[in-house]
Amino acid sequence: AATALALSGCSTGRTTSGSGSSSSTSIPKGSLIGVALPAKTSQNWVLAGQDFQSSITKAGFKADIQYADNNTPVPSQQAEINSMITKGAKAIIIGAADGSQLGTQVAQAKKQGITVIAWDRNILNTKNVDYYVAFNNFHVGELQAQALLDGLKKEKGSGPYNVELFAGSPDDANATVFFNGAMSVLKPKIADGTLKVVSGQTTFQKVNTQGWLAQNAQKRMTDLITANYAKGTKLDGVLSPNDTLARAILQATKSAGLANPVVTGQDSETDSIPLIMNGTQYSTIYKDTTLEANAAVDLVSTLSKGGKPKTVNDKTNNYNGTITVPAVELTPVLVTKDNAVAAYKNDPTLEKLATAGQ
Ligand code: BGC
Repeated sequence: AATALALSGCSTGRTTSGSGSSSSTSIPKGSLIGVALPAKTSQNWVLAGQDFQSSITKAGFKADIQYADNNTPVPSQQAEINSMITKGAKAIIIGAADGSQLGTQVAQAKKQGITVIAWDRNILNTKNVDYYVAFNNFHVGELQAQALLDGLKKEKGSGPYNVELFAGSPDDANATVFFNGAMSVLKPKIADGTLKVVSGQTTFQKVNTQGWLAQNAQKRMTDLITANYAKGTKLDGVLSPNDTLARAILQATKSAGLANPVVTGQDSETDSIPLIMNGTQYSTIYKDTTLEANAAVDLVSTLSKGGKPKTVNDKTNNYNGTITVPAVELTPVLVTKDNAVAAYKNDPTLEKLATAGQ
């Protein structure tokens, strides 16, 4: 685990949130822990299942790990959570397929005294979430935007620069937080003329990517090129919220015969590391999935022993529309080809890819 726990702000040691019932919940050793994950929209979600399986077992609990169905993510995840409740799970860890569609399920879980932990993505508009375990998503966006600015300066000379913006899926609560973090850095640069968004599309509504699907990003990039860059206007950079979409965007610019733009990313996917090392994709973010899964399981272990987990109340990141969910917040790491080998030093697979590309 390369990243250290960042307990920004004060550490409140709170064990309860809005519903206030988690302190009375007991999670005996050996009990069932449910893990409901979204569809596998990026490699990190695939890794998460494996990490939870081993971490929960090692900690002395039983694991029930389920993924939402690709085609029916919302109803399938709702059914999976209901079934975990029926099976007697004592804690349920949820990576929401759609953070706004789980109110009924988490209310039911709380009624049964189950500890509800939102994982990686927050669960929205409910008081029935005890904890949130995630990387600082707003900071992810800030890092992506700063990388875009740095990459442009390094690779495209002095500005102004022509750029386009992409965001993630509107049903993922993280997507707006990533985008807001990025825009906090980019807005002043758009205002002062350093950056020009040639399409004029700068709102989340205009730039989101339904389902985090590569084909949707590739199509939007292709359409943007046809409308704005077909007559020789240069495209210097693209804000991409993750690696899957970065590769789709790069595919579109390549197919259109444009010069390689500076493109950001997230997740340190194995398919993107070689592209970063050879200069095709400019940056990614490293969020160690093992560390993130372990943080949730450690929280469960602490509660199981009657301890008080260390949490922060960080409104920018963790307000869910009803409450600021007490959070275990981890620190994301920006990766470019300059620091890749060092950034991945605790992850043999990624380190090997980075070293091979040097
Ligand atoms: C995760 C990102 C991921 C995206 C798509 C987000 O909620 O935080 O790491 O790229 O989902 O799967």
